[in-house]
Amino acid sequence: MRQSHLFTKTRREAPKDEVAKNAELLIRAGYIHKEMAGVYSYLPLGLRTLNKIIGIIREEMDAIGGQEVHLTALQDRKAWEATHRWGDDVVDNWFKTKLKNGQDVGLAFTHEEPLTQLMRDHLRSFRDLPVSVYQFQTKFRNEERAKSGIIRGREFLMKDMYSFDADERAHQEFYEKVKGAYARIFERVGLGDATFLTFASGGSFSRYSHEFQTITDAGEDTIYVDKIKKIAVNKEVLTDEVLKDVGIVRSDLAEKKAVEVGNIFSLGTRFSEALGLNYKDAEGKSKPVIMGSYGIGPGRVMGTIAEIRSDDKGLVWPESVAPFAVHLIALYDESGRVKQTADEAYAALRRKGIEVLYDDRDVSAGEKFSDADLIGIPMRYVLSARTIGQASIESKDRRTGEAGMLPISRIASSL
Ligand code: ATP
Ligand code: MG
Repeated sequence: MRQSHLFTKTRREAPKDEVAKNAELLIRAGYIHKEMAGVYSYLPLGLRTLNKIIGIIREEMDAIGGQEVHLTALQDRKAWEATHRWGDDVVDNWFKTKLKNGQDVGLAFTHEEPLTQLMRDHLRSFRDLPVSVYQFQTKFRNEERAKSGIIRGREFLMKDMYSFDADERAHQEFYEKVKGAYARIFERVGLGDATFLTFASGGSFSRYSHEFQTITDAGEDTIYVDKIKKIAVNKEVLTDEVLKDVGIVRSDLAEKKAVEVGNIFSLGTRFSEALGLNYKDAEGKSKPVIMGSYGIGPGRVMGTIAEIRSDDKGLVWPESVAPFAVHLIALYDESGRVKQTADEAYAALRRKGIEVLYDDRDVSAGEKFSDADLIGIPMRYVLSARTIGQASIESKDRRTGEAGMLPISRIASSL
């Protein structure tokens, strides 16, 4: 993409009321737009990064057998009354409204109820199980505080997966598979080193749920981390009994602030019993389906990467989620030769299928460099009268700062 065509502009200052580093940087670099607190739009650069994160999650969900769907945000109150989750006294973050005829509808903050209900039309016998279903879908939550940028939105994208199994053993087997898939996802998006499998409260059907918590001061959660064993315990459940059960000792633990980037949960038969999702076993006996739910917020993941992969100059994306792989920068020269060479280099990179942001704008070198630092594309290639005099391009790695010269003829093959 030619930067002269990109409609977004970088800016020196984020909005005055923005307090989160992730949103500050992403707004300044033109990735997102703030509509109001906790409500953000994704602009071309931001959407590219969000879609890369979504792509990685989708690959890993498909790899464990997930089937992708897309459910509605608008919800009929009936299913939620059956599980006792319609009342504002029980769930305090509902956004609700009414149809013209006065019927109540809610904007879904999660999807256990509608999916369980939907599955009644499709799951009948033990032969129909196991099934796992997932979606990328907009959730609405009237969050009390929305001060963490895109880490805590009032409208946000969630990948939510739900599993349906005949028995507890099959459920546990799938639960372990999701654990593995989540570990791979956080590794691939560049959060592997900072993300810990964390024991958290389990609800009524299992002792624990598991959170994937990424250590950063921007986090709203407090966890206790055993760095050697690579596990953690959420402060919510930290007791001597739990530590013993998990097999860690207090003196090995460090208290850390962290962001919950993912969450996996055994639901047992809570939803299947309330909504009548049953199957017939091999003897023809009717039994409630065993369920699990597994969430990740792609926007929250993006905000968390922005928090931990950035410096005083701007964003520093890992290659796997960067909006472009290369930032090609042509510095102005009167003869027009640099521009011509850069146009050719841009075409050569594109022919190789490499995603390039090409800074072909008529602005100063200083402005181009500071914008490039802010936008944070991993690899920068600079062409100037000086470099083309040596038939070379200057390369600089945004992540390591490593710089070098490369023959122009080799740029497309160097990546
Ligand atoms: P939290 O404890 O942070 O409020 P939660 O436990 O309510 O989150 P879940 O309902 O389990 O979150 O949602 C699944 C995933 O969706 C979370 O792990 C997180 O990645 C993401 N998520 C939850 N709430 C938000 C939000 N307000 N904005 C962005 N992502 C969110
Ligand atoms: Mg939570």
